[in-house]
Amino acid sequence: MTSAALADEVEQLKAVALAYEARHFPIPDFVLPPGVRMAVNFTLDFDAMLARRLANEPPMQLAKGEFGGRIGIWRLLEMYEAHDIKVTIFTPGRICELYPEALRRAARAGHEIADHMWEHHVPKDKALEEDHLLKTIAALERVAGRRPVGTRSEHSPALLRRQGFIYNSSTSCTYTPLYQDDENGMNRMVQLPVHFAIDDAMYFSANWAGSKTAAQRLLDPDEVFEMWRSAFWHQYRLGGYLNFMLHPFVSGRASRVDMLERLIVEMKKLPGVWFPTCEDLARHVLARHPA
Ligand SMILES: [Zn+2]
Repeated sequence: MTSAALADEVEQLKAVALAYEARHFPIPDFVLPPGVRMAVNFTLDFDAMLARRLANEPPMQLAKGEFGGRIGIWRLLEMYEAHDIKVTIFTPGRICELYPEALRRAARAGHEIADHMWEHHVPKDKALEEDHLLKTIAALERVAGRRPVGTRSEHSPALLRRQGFIYNSSTSCTYTPLYQDDENGMNRMVQLPVHFAIDDAMYFSANWAGSKTAAQRLLDPDEVFEMWRSAFWHQYRLGGYLNFMLHPFVSGRASRVDMLERLIVEMKKLPGVWFPTCEDLARHVLARHPA
């Protein structure tokens, strides 16, 4: 590469980085409600077998997903309800057809039911994308009795805003809530960031998406407990935020429910730990730090 071409490439990279920066707005003086030192969102991505079916995975893998809908979700709901913690369940629209009872029960108990796309992907075609989102809203409203206001997806912000969504939870670009614009600098929305280090699928997935033996990740729950406990302590010392991304087909296994419960017991011993739904936190951000 000539030095002129290299300089050109550097300029292009700079432009991309600046454009990205110009549409992300961290909240440097982020303040939690009075008396709260740390907010912890527990989010359940209720994919069950859907993502695996779309990836054409074999029946044994589909059955793992099915476990999440038949058993995992119920175990997790019981555990969270025993600790009086409300969670956010990001639900593909099609899952409402498969497991309506679990979702109705969750909504009745005060958990938030939020969008996770119709079939776990966002179509490129705009009309089809809108069709998917509208079908998901209708399906979620049927089981939860109210329209969703949150999403974990890459749906277009303009479409989301038009349909009354107030937040997305799908970026890892920082560790506290922020605002994000679309690529035209419009349709600003609250983002509640997640991270793969606090995603159960990163630690407890065997044969995920046809991965090779060397890529298997079946960790001892105690090991994950230690990692997540230290992630929590780090944020607690700073005064901050954690958004745990869990999947009922992964974390619904008995030893992992037990590990989560031990983590919750430990968190609850400390003063100032708040367990809101994502909607509660997004509404706090909108009220305390208007866009
Ligand atoms: Zn998912």
